[in-house]
Amino acid sequence: MFTDDTIAAISTPLGEGGIGIVRLSGKDSVKIAENIFSSPKNKTIKESGSYRVIYGYIREPSTGKEIDEVLITIMRSPYSYTREDVVEINCHGGMVALRKTLELVLKQGARLAEPGEFTKRAFINGRIDLSQAEAVLDLIRSKTDESRRIAIEQLQGGMSEKITALRDRLTELCAHVEAYIDFPEEEIETASKHDMLETMKDIDRELQTLLKTYDEARFFREGLSTAIVGRPNVGKSSLLNALLKRDRAIVTEIPGTTRDVIEEYLNINGLPLRVMDTAGIRDVREIAEKEGVKRSLRSIEDADLVIALFDHSEPLKEEDYEVLEKIKDKNTIVVLNKCDLPAAIDESAFSSFIIHPLSLISATRGDGLEELKEKIFESCIKDWKEDRQGVVITNLRHKILIDDAKASLDRALSALAENQPLEILALELRDSMDRLGEIVGAVTTEDILDKIFNDFCIGK
Ligand code: GDP
Repeated sequence: MFTDDTIAAISTPLGEGGIGIVRLSGKDSVKIAENIFSSPKNKTIKESGSYRVIYGYIREPSTGKEIDEVLITIMRSPYSYTREDVVEINCHGGMVALRKTLELVLKQGARLAEPGEFTKRAFINGRIDLSQAEAVLDLIRSKTDESRRIAIEQLQGGMSEKITALRDRLTELCAHVEAYIDFPEEEIETASKHDMLETMKDIDRELQTLLKTYDEARFFREGLSTAIVGRPNVGKSSLLNALLKRDRAIVTEIPGTTRDVIEEYLNINGLPLRVMDTAGIRDVREIAEKEGVKRSLRSIEDADLVIALFDHSEPLKEEDYEVLEKIKDKNTIVVLNKCDLPAAIDESAFSSFIIHPLSLISATRGDGLEELKEKIFESCIKDWKEDRQGVVITNLRHKILIDDAKASLDRALSALAENQPLEILALELRDSMDRLGEIVGAVTTEDILDKIFNDFCIGK
């Protein structure tokens, strides 16, 4: 394959930190690292066993000048992340020392790794399959404990096992059918046909179950895009701040495509809520009031969930009706805020279209927030159980392939039931098998691999 050369990259994030790691993988990793390293006790990397750490200095080979004080970790093939010789140089975590070390490594003959290339090598060298490689990325990107749990299960091979088992059953069926094709004078016996139909139906049901997990789990991976809307002064910013104070997900603000669009992640019982256009919520007083409402309403279009706020202590105003009009076809939770003040709102205005019960809260006092969170969680993933067992599909690529595999299997079922030529049956079964094979990477192309690994960062 292409794993003949040795790759290197800085594997830790840019910026200052306690340590920063330059990682090498490939057959010359040890030699390259050796050329730029010296140990005060004259230890060598070459003579060190696997899983050993050596202390020393990175030196510029031409001048002998120290670049950084480091710890070197050696993981020899095949017991390493990539199954190749891997050397990790633990530098001090400053960009200059790291860059300089990387430059030296490259000068010694390593090639700068492409995005995800270490993980790609782990796949190509057979340490993990494709769905496990994808799980590495999910794990890195997970924003809540639940998405982390799904990713680690996939990384440990839960999904690979499931898909491979289904694929094996299809392979067996296919072999059976092909045997009949080879002996055209034989007819499939009724009992055998019945068994085949039952097996196919069973596989079909399993694929269907997997597909069902996708819709629910998508939210855990991608976050639920959420719009908090309402006329000025109903308490949108107070609610957002109250929720953020308790449940800000472990990410900082992510600037969107324009400076105005800022997203925040909330963690609602493990469900990442991506609150859209928080700039629109927070800066509303700086914009003309009408414009503020318009902006707030704009984010409704793309939202999986709308949280619509109304002031419980005032009668509904014209702008409130505008909001009501906009949200009527959306998955909306209506929240009546300022319940600490005397009530003045007419609740019957909401009765005609609301799919979830009204939420009564006080954003400033914190009343009703826990119940609101429950409602948010329920409104999106009613059947989700936190201690849920079994394989969960979170990746769109996998979902599409399972969809395709199921469609082929359904056609195979009709072919068998309608006594169509066995060649058609075999063709559809094989197609179904191949689609499942693409998930784990048993069937793959360079294009597919590029698409998957280009999403990774360099150094992973
Ligand atoms: P926004 O314009 O919708 O973002 O509204 P803000 O969050 O800025 O709130 C507008 C005003 O209402 C502020 O003075 C808040 O302190 C007040 N406010 C927000 N929530 C509550 C609440 O639950 N109770 C009371 N009494 N006042 C609130």
